[in-house]
Order: sequence, then C-alpha cells, then structure tokens
Amino acid sequence: MSDRQLDFVQSNSEKIPVVADCDVVVVGAGPAGHSAAVSAARNGCSVTLLERYHHLGGMASGGMVLVLDDMVNEGNEIVTTGVVDEFVERLEKLDAAVYPPREDCQTNWEMWQKWSRWGCIDFHKAMMPQPIIHAVAFDPDAWKRVSLDMVKDAGVNLRTHSWFSDVLMEGGKITGVISQTKLGRQAIRAKMVIDGTGDLDVGVAAGADYTDGQFIVTTVFRLCDVDTDKAEAFEYSNPEEYKKLDRQARRAIGGAWGMWWLKTPLPGIVWCNCPHMPGYDGLSVEDMVTAEFEGRERMMNLLAFARENIPGFENARMLGAAEQMGIRQTRLLQGEYVVSKNDVTSRRYFEDTVCRGRDYYTPYRSLLPKGIDNLIVAGRHYSVDSDAQKMSREIPPCMSQGEAAGVAVSLALQGDIALRDVDHKAIQKQMRAQGADPGDAPSPNALIESPVAAE
Ligand SMILES: Cc1cc2nc3c(=O)[nH]c(=O)nc-3n(C[C@H](O)[C@H](O)[C@H](O)COP(=O)(O)OP(=O)(O)OC[C@H]3O[C@@H](n4cnc5c(N)ncnc54)[C@H](O)[C@@H]3O)c2cc1C
Repeated sequence: MSDRQLDFVQSNSEKIPVVADCDVVVVGAGPAGHSAAVSAARNGCSVTLLERYHHLGGMASGGMVLVLDDMVNEGNEIVTTGVVDEFVERLEKLDAAVYPPREDCQTNWEMWQKWSRWGCIDFHKAMMPQPIIHAVAFDPDAWKRVSLDMVKDAGVNLRTHSWFSDVLMEGGKITGVISQTKLGRQAIRAKMVIDGTGDLDVGVAAGADYTDGQFIVTTVFRLCDVDTDKAEAFEYSNPEEYKKLDRQARRAIGGAWGMWWLKTPLPGIVWCNCPHMPGYDGLSVEDMVTAEFEGRERMMNLLAFARENIPGFENARMLGAAEQMGIRQTRLLQGEYVVSKNDVTSRRYFEDTVCRGRDYYTPYRSLLPKGIDNLIVAGRHYSVDSDAQKMSREIPPCMSQGEAAGVAVSLALQGDIALRDVDHKAIQKQMRAQGADPGDAPSPNALIESPVAAE
C-alpha cells in the first residue's frame, strides 16, 4: 500500500486508515475548490485537496465549459481579480487563452465580427451588436495543467481518485472526511473543511440545510476540422441565409444559447455548449444515463446537419464529448443568508461582501451553513435560491468564492474561532492583499440605499 498510514479511525465496525492529518481539507477540485485550496495553503494552512477524478478543474476542464465570463461590471470594470487573473496569466503563457485587448472592448459591428465567436460578448444585453467585454476563451487541457502547477507551487497535498463519501463528526464539529478509493475507504483528519463539490456532498453528509435545485443539463462537445474563417465570412456576408440555417441547426440539436458554436485557442476546433436538456436530476444515476444517450444522439444530429448545410463545416468531425456531464445546478445550501434573485438583479451590496461576480455581491454568510462551526462552501452550491443561482454561478465568481473561503479558514484557525465568528473585514483586507476584489467598495451601480447588514 503506497498511501502513508498514520493511524486508524473507527467507523461502526470498520477500521479506516488515516491517510492525512491537516489544517484544512478541501473536497472537490473544480474552479472553486481548487482556488480555495491554493488560497488556504498560501495563507499558511496545511491543505489536503480531494478530487474524485484524475483531473482538476471540474466543469472548466472535464465539463469543457470553455469561456470565463461574468468577470465584468458595467463599463468593463473587472471584478473577479486575484486568483482568476493569475489563472489567466498562466494560461496565456501556455498560449491557451484568448481575450480582447482593452481597446477592442467596444460596442460596434466591427468588434462584434472580430470577437463574438470567441464568446467575448455581454450576453446579458439584449441589444445588437452586444458589447465586447473582458471574457476569456481557454483550452481545457491547459486548465488541467495550470491547476496542477498551482497546487504543486502552493504545497497542497493532492489526493485524486478519491470520492468523498462521508464526514467524521464529534458533536457539532466535523473532524475529518472519508473518501472511497480503489484501496477501500480512507480518512483525512482536518480542523476545517471546505465543500467544493458543486453538489453540497459534504454539507449534506454533515446535516446542513439545503434545497433541491435543477436546471438544464448539457453534454458539451467539440468539433474539429472546422474552417472557422469560412463559416464567419459566410455568416457576415449572408446574414439572412445564415440565420435560417442557424435556426435549423438549433432544431437539430434541440436547444442552445445564442451561439451554439464558439472558437477555441486551437485552430479548427470549436466547442458547442449544447444541447439543452431539461428535466434531469444531476444527482440521479438513471437520469444521467438517459441524458448521456440523449445528448450523444442530439450532437450527432447537429454534426450531420452542419456538415451537409453550413459553409465551413463540410469536413467537420466529432472530436468528442466532455468527460463530465454538464451539470449546472443540484443541491443548494440554505445557510446563514440565502441570496435571492432580487439581491442579484438589484445588485444589492452587503456589508459582509467577500467576493463578487459581474454586477452582484456575495455576502460571507452565504458561504456558511447554519449550525456547523468549521464547514464553509465555495461554488455553485452556495447558499442561494434556484433562480438566483442560475445568474450567479459562472466559473470566475466561483473561483473568487473559493479564494475568500481559503482566506476565511486561515483566519478561523489563526484565531481558534468558529468560521461564523471570523471578521468579514479581515477577509476583505486579506483578499485585497492578494490582489482580489472582495466587493467591499461598491461600484456606482450597486444598490446601497438599504444595505443588508451583517449580523
Ligand atoms: C454546460 C455548462 C455550460 C456552462 N457555461 C459556462 C460558461 O460559458 N462560462 C462560465 O464561466 N461558466 C459556465 N458554466 C458554469 C460553471 O461551469 C460552473 O458553475 C462552475 O464550474 C462551478 O464551479 P464549482 O467548482 O462550484 O463546481 P464544479 O465545476 O462542478 O466542480 C466540482 C468538483 O468537485 C468534484 N467532486 C464532486 N463531488 C465529489 C465527491 N463526492 N468527491 C470528490 N470530488 C467531488 C468534481 O469532480 C469537480 O471537480 C457552465 C456550466 C455548465 C454545466
């Protein structure tokens, strides 16, 4: 057995080997969990990061969701900085990120033609042409490599191939987690726990309140051998004909956002953020199997239609579907504060805001479950209602949540206090020190007339 075996914990009649004993265990190495682990380690904590798959990145790599968006407020004010900026810089060094230079972030047809097929548009605006904004198209394999580099540089103890299955608890406190591996169950002892599973797996096991959410699921895929120059030239010189074909393509796939294909940093390879498949429970094995069959059938229908009808796609081939089913929403924490749709759409500013996305603010309390002192969540399962989550779950804001959670656990450990007693001002200060925008200085378009104060 290659795993270091410190001692055992007893669970019912089973003796489970303890494979790590640390300050902080982070479960889930998606955008949020990864950022949380790196942030906690950089703040002096010994950190173990657990991930069920072999790769890091969650939906950003395994799910092949290939544009970082919701990074800017009105006026192209970049609000997700810190770890997000660092990630983009590292991707750029690998030639694996594309985004518009500041001077191209304008609202006109010339820039639209240059940048819209990279996904660098403000899709929240109904106008045409939509404004070009700071958004980043990236390569999923480079995302995995950068994730590994950052974990290594920060000294995080990484344990992949480890599926979280339960918590160890004493009183109202979590004392560790258990993962399922090929070698059987393994225990990790920790003083603080960060749930980055996207589905609140740890929170549920620890008895946190939650609500069941649901949204469309998608088998994202990529096509290769696409002549994107030809496809774009056809689209812009024959807009009416293109629109007609595009409508038919959408029918073939059965539901897609505004643009069903987008360019990637790899020439001739496009990613397709479709089909939209409603009514599936992202936690149900049966539903996921059915969705897999349905998604693959639909993507092949689209490919056949595109090859036959759309200039530039004549020689297109299926490069492959994402390793992970695209799950947007499942269980949502109902914690110390539940962010509402109105909070997001009104851009409500909270005194205890610790991170932000687009034009909305995320209060520290919405990362905290009620009644558990040493658990914090980061990611798409934070404490929010279902409609609000649909508009506040993109990759960069989830990374910023992770960065804030990493800071919070380090402060709780330093002060030997419960997470809920950590002073949000101290989190904000440290976030700023790491180059992140904690949202403590609201932008002019924030709702600050009646701020919801921290208790
Ligand atoms: C189809 C689709 C398209 C999207 N489009 C965009 C887009 O264009 N731009 C954008 O910015 N965002 C987009 N999003 C949203 C974004 O991808 C997610 O909201 C974001 O990745 C959430 O990050 P996360 O870290 O919270 O969760 P996830 O990315 O889901 O990561 C969770 C991690 O936890 C791991 N995990 C889960 N359970 C366990 C367990 N029990 N044990 C061990 N590990 C576990 C998973 O393997 C994974 O690595 C899209 C999402 C989908 C599904």
